[in-house]
Amino acid sequence: MKNLGYYNGNFAEIDEMTIPMNDRACYFGDGVYEATMSRNYNIFAIDEHIDRLYNSAGLLRIEISQTKEEMKAILNEMVSKMDTGDNFIYWQITRGTSMRNHVFPEKDVKANLWITISPKKIPDIYKKINLITEEDTRFLHCNIKTINLLPSVMASQKAKECGCDEAVLHRGERVTEGSHSNVHIIKDGMLITAPTDHLILPGITRAHIIKTCKKLNIAVDETPFTLEELMNADEVLVSSSSTLCRGAQQIDGKNVGGKAPEILKAIQDEILRKYTEETN
Ligand code: PMP
Repeated sequence: MKNLGYYNGNFAEIDEMTIPMNDRACYFGDGVYEATMSRNYNIFAIDEHIDRLYNSAGLLRIEISQTKEEMKAILNEMVSKMDTGDNFIYWQITRGTSMRNHVFPEKDVKANLWITISPKKIPDIYKKINLITEEDTRFLHCNIKTINLLPSVMASQKAKECGCDEAVLHRGERVTEGSHSNVHIIKDGMLITAPTDHLILPGITRAHIIKTCKKLNIAVDETPFTLEELMNADEVLVSSSSTLCRGAQQIDGKNVGGKAPEILKAIQDEILRKYTEETN
């Protein structure tokens, strides 16, 4: 074969392969991968790559269905089908196929194994190369609604396992947002919500809440607030498009909010009214 795509036992040339839309790789990037080279049909450092893959999967609590030996055998078999022995070998394990939901699928959903193999040789390593420098801002682009949601997936799953509905994320003392929502507080009659910098997603519902507050003459303060302020807030609000705006009663098992129920309800009523009106 000129190149090869493999998915859970099926293989063909890559252009002929299709994968299910509900593979969690497609919408969460919920998987781990490895890549290495083969020369003369021998996969370089295969055991080290397989060990690291299992380690990465374990850290994300993804259970790989194959044993390490089985995976190695599959990879070797797929390489043997190639027209050339010198290839780039890429493979990934994803957390399975199920309807989109941040939390993990049910236990019976098995992980998926993908492989792609394409001809490639290592470059002339003695030829000098040119570089640039760039600030490392990885994992600091929360304002982008990217589909790479793994940290949100892990936090959502933790919340679920704690019997909770959402995880409030923080960087040090500063509360940022929920794993798939925005978080706001009411204190002394004022709505406090994190500013729309690179640490939060500028939620559409957040914007609706701010507009609502202005309409209801509730002051809005778009400055960061701390975990302490969260725990001592008069009300804690969580917002998203699919859940609108809900008040929290407990965080980490401690009672919170409940001290400004009229303000909370006034905001919720208006948000629900707008939703109902626009969807009539
Ligand atoms: N933050 C994150 C990380 C989210 O995933 C979401 C939900 N999409 C939100 C905030 C809320 O945004 P919106 O109100 O636009 O749904």
